[in-house]
Amino acid sequence: MSLIFAAKLYNMTNRTFTMIKPDATEKGNTGGILQMINKAGFRIVAMKMTHLSKEKAGEFYAVHKERPFYGELVEFMSRGPITAAILEKENAVEDFRKLIGATNPANAEEGTIRKAYATSIGENAVHGSDSNENAAIEGDFFFSKLEQF
Ligand code: ATP
Ligand code: MG
Repeated sequence: MSLIFAAKLYNMTNRTFTMIKPDATEKGNTGGILQMINKAGFRIVAMKMTHLSKEKAGEFYAVHKERPFYGELVEFMSRGPITAAILEKENAVEDFRKLIGATNPANAEEGTIRKAYATSIGENAVHGSDSNENAAIEGDFFFSKLEQF
């Protein structure tokens, strides 16, 4: 295996993408969430605060286009600023999904970010990629190669 390919594979399987959603930004929970992320052993390798337009929010969640909650989701995600970040850790995608907890905070386990900060199934504080492939696509949606450390 070439060194370049090995490095690429390493990045794909050890990185995930997250967003701190507008509800968490509004409530001043950005710092608390970042602290939970760091304490769980994730290293921040890219980060920015930005405000998604409806068009960009719709594009990011395009896989949910046919779902009944899509309109509500786009409205919510474009309501205010978000913090986007790429996180690095061994087994990043799976471990981060465990750290954020269930989509519906009513089902989220103690110690998870959604248990601590989410208020409803729609306004659930954080996003986490669901596969290595999507982690790479979503990271590239927000960050150029020069911004991924
Ligand atoms: P995310 O992709 O944001 O990490 P998830 O993977 O846990 O969340 P998905 O099924 O991908 O959950 O749904 C994407 C987002 O759409 C949810 O996080 C939530 O904000 C919103 N959503 C999902 N289901 C509902 C619903 N039934 N009603 C309202 N909003 C919903
Ligand atoms: Mg999802």
